[in-house]
Amino acid sequence: MNELKALLQKDDPFLRPSRLGSHNFPGIWTAMMPRELFGLRIPEERRATCMNCPKASYEGYRADYRCCTYHPRVANFLLGLASETAVGDRVLDNLLDRGMLIPEGMHYAPAQWVDYLDDLQKDAFGRSEKVLCPNLDQSTGYCNIHAFRNSVCSTFFCYKDHGDAGDGFWDQVQVLGSQVEMALGQWALQQAGFNLDQYFKAFDKLAKNIHKVSVRDGWQTEARESLWGSWLGREKELMRACAAAVVHERDNLWEIANSQPIRESVPFDKAMVKAVPKRLEDQIDPEDLEDSGGETVRPSVIWQDVMKAYWKLWDLPEGAFVVNPKVKIADNALQTTQDQYYQDKPYFIMFYPRKGSKTLDWKMGITAAQKAVLDLFVGTARELDTTLLTNPAFKALENGKNFLAEMLRRKVLVA
Ligand code: SF4
Ligand code: SF4
Repeated sequence: MNELKALLQKDDPFLRPSRLGSHNFPGIWTAMMPRELFGLRIPEERRATCMNCPKASYEGYRADYRCCTYHPRVANFLLGLASETAVGDRVLDNLLDRGMLIPEGMHYAPAQWVDYLDDLQKDAFGRSEKVLCPNLDQSTGYCNIHAFRNSVCSTFFCYKDHGDAGDGFWDQVQVLGSQVEMALGQWALQQAGFNLDQYFKAFDKLAKNIHKVSVRDGWQTEARESLWGSWLGREKELMRACAAAVVHERDNLWEIANSQPIRESVPFDKAMVKAVPKRLEDQIDPEDLEDSGGETVRPSVIWQDVMKAYWKLWDLPEGAFVVNPKVKIADNALQTTQDQYYQDKPYFIMFYPRKGSKTLDWKMGITAAQKAVLDLFVGTARELDTTLLTNPAFKALENGKNFLAEMLRRKVLVA
């Protein structure tokens, strides 16, 4: 039980957040993801202001849960690491009590997935009454496993500074992180002496009784008994043993993730999809219907897709551009909470659904130097050429090309 403790260093980077651009990510990302990721220029995502959530303020999301109205899959080794903190340890106890823990980690049961699809159907994501992440501290709105959350939670930004290009980039990073988490989770189980063959056989068997494997809050007792096998009653020990395996190989995690085939129970996955009521079938992600045919996409291949998406973030296209007629630049009156949030930005970009509309689509604070650059595009279209690049207003702006790329992706500048 204390092998993990013995392997961890004093103030271990795996137990605290790492920084990717201006965002906090789980500390283990520094070891399990490609090193080059940390050298990239990452979008700031200024509009996903979680503690002053625009979706809760303007779009009816629950103020307490906001976008945490889903049940994430959290890998065993992440939960094992989380158990080193008092609050993370309580999260594990809670997941165990609710029956949401299986050897691979926190995992929703089939009926919970159906509830999630039902929410999507009713446009209730963010407003759900039934799909609420048990890892959220309702009294503070904080995630209790923030430094150990999964790739989906870590890369979710409801609004992207770079619009569709930002979506593309974060989607690929999310896929990469999820694939690495799954590979390491299964590898760690093997290292801990857990029998993966029996585990997947148990899943195959559960497929025959798919309607009986869930209870309201998670997995039904007999289903858990068959999945945990001889580890039943020692679940936390297994989570910590998986974390210990990962910590022990901290310098080789990327290579391990690239060589570990990911296994799944095809009969169980198919049965889960088949058990979805007809009225919800449209909500199933087509990826959930894909049969991988036993092939695992290597993280190194996904990494190439991350880089392709990355270059799209910052490309400057050819052509002449002007400030979109749907945009107004206004002073920051410092009156509302959102104004105060942008108190170091004296101006706002105000984006309307159409020219002359009174309903605001979104707004974002900008500096005086950024406004001076946008002013160059007011009225007449101009090219992104040397006349622009040598203009004093443009030269005065740090990272001016990146700002232009962002304005183009967000359609503040249009052809
Ligand atoms: S990412 Fe979630 S919490 Fe953050 S601003 Fe968007 S909806 Fe709100
Ligand atoms: S794990 Fe944390 S960030 Fe992810 S949904 Fe739950 S509370 Fe939200």
